[in-house]
Amino acid sequence: MNTRPYSLDALFQSVKSVSGVGPRLTKLLEKLVGPCVVHLLWHLPAGVIDRRYSPPLREAKGGQVATLQLSVLEHMEPKRRGLPYRVKCSDGTGVIDLTFFNVRGDYLDHQLPVGAVRVVSGKLEFYNGYLQMPHPDFIVTPEEKHLIPAIEPIYPLTAGITHKVIYKIIRGALLRAPDLEEWLDPAYQKREQWPSWHDAVAAAHAPQDEHGLSPLHPARMRLAYDEMLANQLTLSLLRLRQKKQKGRSLAGDDTLFARALASLPFTLTGAQDAAVAEIRKDLASPDRMHRLLQGDVGSGKTAVGFLAMVHAVGSGCQAALMAPTEILARQHEHKLKPLAEALGLNVVTLTGRDKGKTRAAILAQMADGRAHIVIGTHALFQDDVVFKDLGFVIIDEQHRFGVHQRLQLSAKGALADVLVMTATPIPRTLTLTVYGDMDVSRLNEKPAGRQPIDTRLVSNERIDEVIDGIGRKISGGERIYWVCPLVEESEKLDLAAAEERYRHIHQRYGERTGLLHGRMKPAEKDAVMEKFAHGELDILVATTVIEVGVDVPEATVMIIEHAERFGLAQLHQLRGRIGRGTGKSTCLLLYAAKCSEVARQRLATIRDSEDGFFISEQDLKLRGAGEMLGTKQSGLPAFRLTSAEHHQDLIATAHDDARLILDRDPDLLSPRGKALRTLLYLFERDTAIKYLRSG
Ligand code: ADP
Ligand code: MG
Repeated sequence: MNTRPYSLDALFQSVKSVSGVGPRLTKLLEKLVGPCVVHLLWHLPAGVIDRRYSPPLREAKGGQVATLQLSVLEHMEPKRRGLPYRVKCSDGTGVIDLTFFNVRGDYLDHQLPVGAVRVVSGKLEFYNGYLQMPHPDFIVTPEEKHLIPAIEPIYPLTAGITHKVIYKIIRGALLRAPDLEEWLDPAYQKREQWPSWHDAVAAAHAPQDEHGLSPLHPARMRLAYDEMLANQLTLSLLRLRQKKQKGRSLAGDDTLFARALASLPFTLTGAQDAAVAEIRKDLASPDRMHRLLQGDVGSGKTAVGFLAMVHAVGSGCQAALMAPTEILARQHEHKLKPLAEALGLNVVTLTGRDKGKTRAAILAQMADGRAHIVIGTHALFQDDVVFKDLGFVIIDEQHRFGVHQRLQLSAKGALADVLVMTATPIPRTLTLTVYGDMDVSRLNEKPAGRQPIDTRLVSNERIDEVIDGIGRKISGGERIYWVCPLVEESEKLDLAAAEERYRHIHQRYGERTGLLHGRMKPAEKDAVMEKFAHGELDILVATTVIEVGVDVPEATVMIIEHAERFGLAQLHQLRGRIGRGTGKSTCLLLYAAKCSEVARQRLATIRDSEDGFFISEQDLKLRGAGEMLGTKQSGLPAFRLTSAEHHQDLIATAHDDARLILDRDPDLLSPRGKALRTLLYLFERDTAIKYLRSG
């Protein structure tokens, strides 16, 4: 059956179905964990409070969390402002003050009536020799004692949600976790001594001590493995499907190809040459090509892609190049159109911006084959986009696209060969999580004549000197990128900061300063970008919209404000915008004076290396324990349960496991296969299921 099994229904209800969750909490939870109950289960505790310490007061130690049964003796209102309200209590062996700031007396009268017995839990302190417990976490009657968890998991929070609330909500979600048929290989599960899925979820949310929080705890290992297995199954299914479909042989046109090669304004590097040869061989073979072109920023992937398209088009079919953003699609158009037209090839570009008649005209050219090469954004996915004969697809900077989208586009050309180009130099061990087992070509060499980039760390306090320094650079004819701080989770604030900086620099250096940000209309963005590329602007103040792919070889200075807020991969990408021509380039990383030691260490990594692979390995190491695989910054798909640092071995195992499973049971029809379908649904890999025969 190719629909989600009923057993998962409860998990895919909205978080608002959990008792105690109203509209306000729903919004907050959607942001913190995700829209469904299952996402609450993936929200694992980050700490633990042991409340089992329960000493007689006369022996109680300060600094510890304790749970105590006490008689309430007396309420003492604060004598003056700034002092706490105190409630004196006793257990017969000694006395303790429960202290409260800013709490109404009548509320406390109700919670802690004089003469009553209450169980309280919180941190003990000594103050002037007196034992006290400021703001107990729990105050309950002896009958409600069970409401105090002996060992309490502590969850990552967001503003507006308290510990108590999230604890209660997640307990509610856990009650919905069903028993599911086991999908793990029994022998492997036994060897690893992993619990069932249900028990793993329960255990991961009930850590008994610090070890229970470790990514190496069996419960967490199991969940990480489940996540990786779902990921690897999805990729393997995709791969299998692509293999099953026959490809076509694109022989190319050698004369046309030779002319294209000769028309480039440079000679290919050895690495480009080798990659082009591999790709042409794949295109010519009757198997369907599925290749990854991995090359650090500035290694010249575009030229390789262009030559590959010329080869494909020389065989009589159409080729498409898909970029992640409007700016990049336009940039490719500007670079490739003249080259292609000189060869007699027709290039059209389709993006979300094209509407009405313009769009219809472009679509017509694609449908009747007049367009040889089509450049575009994800607008190319739309249903009414039809090619006459799409034989070859290039997906540029693919980490911006999901597997799902990759599938959609290749469906436009049933037999189309696919080349994915990426500049994300992810560590080799992690390549599997993104690309499964695609064939890989690497551009491990930069074009000759590039000079190393002079990268420096500069304290934010010296920003005025930096702004002064720009003047000298401009008079020397250099072009400058100024990248504005990334303010977490708030595009609005990003924008305000960028606009503010722009005004400041504009005031100082005048008309030849431009501003580029994500909220601008595409046409405005293009216009600014074009002016900068053509030298009508000297300074481009921008948010990270320029991060990926933008190519202006004349730009030689990059200034990044609050560099400590960026991921290393992102900084590397940003810096990759300069050092593209033969001029000497400088990158200034401005950092907040009070940023942490680790942050500074990370920046030093960037300063000292231009090797994307090295940087990504360091990034992983420095991000340290608990860091989940894939964040928005790294460009990897987000995993909730897998830690890049601790679970690398699991990835390889899951990869082999997935292959073995599909070798034996390609449509997941066996009993274990059916359980694995549930796993795929559990991790929302619904698209993968579409490629299975129903069973
Ligand atoms: P990326 O791999 O980051 O996409 P691009 O394809 O944008 O890199 O190329 C970066 C710059 O290097 C471009 O300006 C391009 O014209 C230039 N370039 C590419 N290949 C060569 C080469 N073999 N020799 C000299 N310059 C090259
Ligand atoms: Mg590129």
